[in-house]
Amino acid sequence: MRKRAIKMRLLCAIVILAIVMLACHSETYTPFRDVEVSMICFRYSLMDSTQICVRNRKRIREITETVRLVPKEQCACAHSVEVVFVIGEEEHSAYVCSHCFDLMGETVENYRMPEDFLVYCHSYRDSTHLSERWESPLYLSRQKRAREESRGE
Ligand SMILES: [Zn+2]
Repeated sequence: MRKRAIKMRLLCAIVILAIVMLACHSETYTPFRDVEVSMICFRYSLMDSTQICVRNRKRIREITETVRLVPKEQCACAHSVEVVFVIGEEEHSAYVCSHCFDLMGETVENYRMPEDFLVYCHSYRDSTHLSERWESPLYLSRQKRAREESRGE
């Protein structure tokens, strides 16, 4: 009889743990994990005419892995850094600051800035030698594809 009670308690604990884990998991949104992002461009000022674009697939995967988004309330601060994720023929923009990651869709979705992603934002901002002239990321990714095709990749 006692054994059965312990078993029941254990079962309850496992069920509760599973529910909690599921609830936590569903709160984290990973929009770029299972899609093929071909390029990520960082624009550090909307007034700027330069951007830093990441085209290396391995590096892109490393960066997109860090985009684990947790919803938050909208804040009133200025988000002057734009990060553009190119997926196929689509550009997905996020306007970010040190604590916000606002994903632009049909509406603006407000998320907390993932700490690991912020590290990338800072390190690229400091890599000014990588700056290039501002162009539409879609235009750049088409150029890249054309170059790869001409090399037969
Ligand atoms: Zn903010």
